[in-house]
Amino acid sequence: MLNIVIFGAPGSGKGTQSAKMKEKYGLEHLSTGEILRSEIKADTELGRLADSYMSKGLLVPDELVIDILNGLIGRQGDVKGFIFDGFPRTLAQGEALGRMLKRHGGDVHAVVSLEVDEEELIDRLLKRGRISGRKDDNRETVESRLKVYRAQTEPLKEYYRTRGLLKNIEGTGSVDGIFASIEKEIDRLVK
Ligand code: ADP
Repeated sequence: MLNIVIFGAPGSGKGTQSAKMKEKYGLEHLSTGEILRSEIKADTELGRLADSYMSKGLLVPDELVIDILNGLIGRQGDVKGFIFDGFPRTLAQGEALGRMLKRHGGDVHAVVSLEVDEEELIDRLLKRGRISGRKDDNRETVESRLKVYRAQTEPLKEYYRTRGLLKNIEGTGSVDGIFASIEKEIDRLVK
């Protein structure tokens, strides 16, 4: 199994690069943001609860996302591996991910961190908000998501750096150029 975490601030391009990794390496793409948005769309109890955090730019509580992921990983049959997109977002989630994968005989093999400066992130997110209408892509919520990212999510970089798993990738430039840098890192793992 090959398990990759795609890491980065909101707007850093995790979803875009995940789609390319999924296509090239045949990995399952698990995006907690997408999963939560589909729960909101279906108006489930979980969706309503998640929305009360997401619309404010706050993280959904760890137990909820950890449970969702646990269920999904457990239900997958014979897969080549996973791309974790938007998970983990806290140290507790990082530790939980390690435990979950270990239970299935796996591990995290690389953490691809997309580095984009803050001005560009805000620009991209506000642009996306105007096009896609994602309702957390407005100025107020974007600012809160970036704050949450710095306080709660960024410390994971150190966690993975000390484990030798962190791969910093320059996240500005063309989509294909960025993907080429990611391929260089992953090809080294699959050879
Ligand atoms: P982005 O990375 O652009 O913020 P996502 O789709 O990954 O977009 O996440 C959108 C929102 O979903 C987050 O702001 C957060 O509220 C919630 N969310 C997604 N993943 C997690 C997670 N692993 N833990 C807690 N909340 C999450």
